[in-house]
Amino acid sequence: MHRDSAVQEVRVRSVRVPMTEPHKTAGGIVAESPLILTDVVTDSGTIGHSLLFTYTPAALKPTAELIRNIEPLIKGEPLAPAEIEQKLTKKFRLLGTQGLVGMALAAIDMAMWDALARIHDLPLVRLLGGSVKPIRCYGPVGFDGEEGSARAAERAVSRGFRGVKAKIGYATVKEDVNVVRAMRKAVGPDVAIMVDYNQCLTPAEAIARLRVLDDEGLVWVEEPTLAHDYAGHARVSREARTPIQCGENWWGILDMRHAIEAGASDLVMPDVMKIGGVTGWLRAATLAQANNLQVSSHLWPEISARLLCCTPTAHWLEYADWWNPILAEPLRVVDGIAIVEDAPGSGVEWDEAAVQRFVV
Ligand SMILES: [Mg+2]
Repeated sequence: MHRDSAVQEVRVRSVRVPMTEPHKTAGGIVAESPLILTDVVTDSGTIGHSLLFTYTPAALKPTAELIRNIEPLIKGEPLAPAEIEQKLTKKFRLLGTQGLVGMALAAIDMAMWDALARIHDLPLVRLLGGSVKPIRCYGPVGFDGEEGSARAAERAVSRGFRGVKAKIGYATVKEDVNVVRAMRKAVGPDVAIMVDYNQCLTPAEAIARLRVLDDEGLVWVEEPTLAHDYAGHARVSREARTPIQCGENWWGILDMRHAIEAGASDLVMPDVMKIGGVTGWLRAATLAQANNLQVSSHLWPEISARLLCCTPTAHWLEYADWWNPILAEPLRVVDGIAIVEDAPGSGVEWDEAAVQRFVV
């Protein structure tokens, strides 16, 4: 009976969740999360959930509308996410599956996988043939200067995190280094420190800064230059001793393949939304394995923790609590390790009262 489940309805809501602390990056301040909540209802009554982050509220309405417009294309179809991904990708070939279209497709994909796992009464990890493993998490440090960054790093470590990632890209490399050293002093020699430039340097600037940062023992330097400048990242990667980390802005596995072919990144961190949902992630994990690249995640801690359990070269999980207010069971982290619960599904369940509070 379960195997015959079909998609019956797609429900979409938009919420704007304020952040407890505005998140500063070299590219600007994020003060709230504009989110799209997608529910795929199956004919057996099981509902699968997924979460999209649109970065700007300006993209909320059009993305939600796109998801609604895709409903007739999948209504009545068997609940087979990988199959539906093929079908929808073909439908959108002429327009392209990047940007808002890619996000809408990922929303549907993730909600379908969630529904499929629930229908089979399995946690997503087990549905995918994996088992729960300890996934290391790192905590967030914003663009908060020497003192602020050291304090945030210390706070993360006191909560059990064994790694922290700071936003850098200050006016001078001296300031970048001072922030890293202030954090190192605060957390000691054994905590992993990563830094993220959020695309703010030219390749030449990045090469010059990395010459200085290379002695700081960083686990990675993230997106030193424009995310889609693969040749630029490759130049930086060749010159630097510190591993370069990219991936959160790759739209689907073709972007990932092009980045890998260019030698743009020494590590990879696909974003479950931009890479194409669970289906896209699984393909990305295989591509990473075939290229012997370690995989970390970008936001979406609940579903990413589960996917990293099924990723042969799993590395670090990026922890963020931005969307906790609307989740019934946000990811728990104990001693810096993600706790993947044994409940059926992908770990996304709404706190309905909270959703009502933030609904647009
Ligand atoms: Mg980043």
